[in-house]
Amino acid sequence: MALSGVEIFKLLPKTNCKKCGFPTCLAFAMKLAQGGVDLEKCPDISEESKKVLGEASAPPIRTFALGAGEKAVKIGGETVMFRHDKKFFNPCAIALNIKDNLSDAELKKAAVEVANSEIERIGQKLRIDAISIEYASNDSARYEAAVKLIASAAPDTAIILNCKEPSAAEKAVKAVADRKPLLYGATNDNAETMAGIAKANKVPLSVCAQGVEALISLTEKIKSLGVEDIVMDSGAKTAKEIIEHNTQIRRSALRKGFKPLGYPVINFALRDDSTFEAALASVAIAKYASIVVISSIAKWKNLALFTLRQNIYTDPQVPMQVEQKIYKIGEPTDDSPLLITTNFSLTYFIVSGEVENSKVPSWLAVMDCEGLSVLTAWAAGKFTSAKIAQFIKDSGVEGQIKHKNLIIPGQVAILSGALEEKLEGWKITVGPREANGLPTFLKSRTA
Ligand code: SF4
Repeated sequence: MALSGVEIFKLLPKTNCKKCGFPTCLAFAMKLAQGGVDLEKCPDISEESKKVLGEASAPPIRTFALGAGEKAVKIGGETVMFRHDKKFFNPCAIALNIKDNLSDAELKKAAVEVANSEIERIGQKLRIDAISIEYASNDSARYEAAVKLIASAAPDTAIILNCKEPSAAEKAVKAVADRKPLLYGATNDNAETMAGIAKANKVPLSVCAQGVEALISLTEKIKSLGVEDIVMDSGAKTAKEIIEHNTQIRRSALRKGFKPLGYPVINFALRDDSTFEAALASVAIAKYASIVVISSIAKWKNLALFTLRQNIYTDPQVPMQVEQKIYKIGEPTDDSPLLITTNFSLTYFIVSGEVENSKVPSWLAVMDCEGLSVLTAWAAGKFTSAKIAQFIKDSGVEGQIKHKNLIIPGQVAILSGALEEKLEGWKITVGPREANGLPTFLKSRTA
């Protein structure tokens, strides 16, 4: 948002009607200036003001979807240079490059590998997001067949058509247009034709240039041809180029509001040396790439890239949380132990993992403490005897089990007496101080 709160205020109805949820138009204007509210929340704004404010509040980096359906990935939309300034919004999509001149069996195997790449980490599903299909055969019929085969073998995965030959690209786009593939790529030589194909089939178009200067004229040209959803490849190949180009692009878009560079970036990190490729892809993920393309997806590499990406795209100001509820670990019966902990993701995953290791089916009550760990939540007054007692009463767990024994974390042993007073009829047992003591603790109780 380039306009100040006061400038925005001048364009609002100034009736203080509160329909937007703010007490005054000025309060709404101030929030809008910070990007913290949607312009649409004010129903009475004039069309003229809407146009002015709409343009001014358009995100500095365009946002759109890569692919369609459940596994579509949102790209672009970033608003800060550094994660600690606010947060990064749309995680870099990771794509596997597959050449169309492989055998059908090899194509299918690679596509299935992508489709099955999903893992779960701290409650989030992480996967290889897209397949880039490279036009290596120089045979448009083969390319089209390869694209169809891959599309059916990985039915929900986003597709990048890595093909600069317009006639082959057109056939392939038409074959999978409903999947909203990203067409890569438009160069100075084929810009008009590629833009025409992208426009006719309503798919995003990636431009590829040699350097940032060349990129600017190319994106301006593609936009003038009517394509709005653009991805940019500056031709960066080395780690140094990726950092330099991507930083220059992001700085121009965010700090100077330079529209021709206000699009998501794609980097190709393809290398024969898999370790080097992983390092290069890491640089791209860390430094502003919206899509990074790699040539192999060994599990070790996926794990490293997924973890890096997840950490970078986690909001640094909000602790990761899991839902407050009574979780089943294994197949607990009404006689199984009941434990309680807080809803900090890491705490939940460590505790539930150790309960699982014990092989003792259990109930795990996870209480909303705004994502704080046990000791921090206790110190902050969010994991107190009164609040725990209320949660246990409200949770309905008393209808699921026939005993009234609650195991609390050893770190808050101090709560046991007060809790027994507040939870009438319940027996409070103090569990181990550290989660890794849970298997021995639980097994000894059932022995
Ligand atoms: Fe002002 Fe519009 Fe909010 Fe009403 S809805 S208070 S007119 S900004």
